[in-house]
Amino acid sequence: MSDFPEGTVWLVGAGPGDPELLTRKAERLIGMATVVFHDALVGPGVLEMAAPGARLVHVGKRSGRHSKDQGTIDRLIVEAALAGERVVRLKGGDPAIFGRATEELDACHAAGVPVRICPGVTAASAAAASLGASLTLRGLARKLTFVTAHARAGEVLDLDWATLADPEATLAVYMGKAAATDVSRNLIAAGLPADTPVALVESASLPEERHFHTRLDLLPLVARTALGDGPALLLIGRALARGRTFVPRIDAAALGAPITAG
Ligand code: SAH
Repeated sequence: MSDFPEGTVWLVGAGPGDPELLTRKAERLIGMATVVFHDALVGPGVLEMAAPGARLVHVGKRSGRHSKDQGTIDRLIVEAALAGERVVRLKGGDPAIFGRATEELDACHAAGVPVRICPGVTAASAAAASLGASLTLRGLARKLTFVTAHARAGEVLDLDWATLADPEATLAVYMGKAAATDVSRNLIAAGLPADTPVALVESASLPEERHFHTRLDLLPLVARTALGDGPALLLIGRALARGRTFVPRIDAAALGAPITAG
């Protein structure tokens, strides 16, 4: 097809793991590729969509277990395209969200290799779906922030906690498992209430999916004791309250009687 000639690259979003959460475009591109470079987070069901003769190259990265560095991945993609292959670079979730897409786009541009992006369902969307919850909440969570809590080895997590500690926002923390203690401590220190609802979703959309509801001050404990080895997302904010009760605004004057807090 004309949008995927030989010698070109597509950065394709594989979604959160469930092959049914792949876009139809992604499925078509994967089926057309002669080589697929994929991450650790891309599920086997997705790779089965590759054509029988296609090469599947695992360039997976999981925190602390980098199998190929970013420069090597950039070079492999470019070399394959220059050799006349139809290259799919398959990334978990959406390629443009914490996916190192810029490095790969830049490497392609520098080599004169045409490259395009096919979006995917990001982990935060899949996690909200698993919880049966909305990430935003009219009047209460008007802002949705995607943040990564990944710090380079040996470096402290340096985020703008004052801005992140917004009681009217939902915070989706990617790569936050190891940093759960820092996240909790710093957000509370910056003024976010200790009882702010938190949901942890592990392996969203996959058969082994699990989720936990807790509060901000207990987040470190839950992250440490409940989570397993799968990728996990932390969702923080009032939109995640379980069994949330609506408190209607009562117009005291209209009722004609004093209201006492109960
Ligand atoms: N581009 C991806 C994010 C890559 S960063 C996206 O848009 O989703 C990797 C992090 O994403 C993981 O550490 C985890 O926090 C989150 N993640 C990816 N897949 C997930 C899943 N199925 N369930 C929960 N979190 C997931």
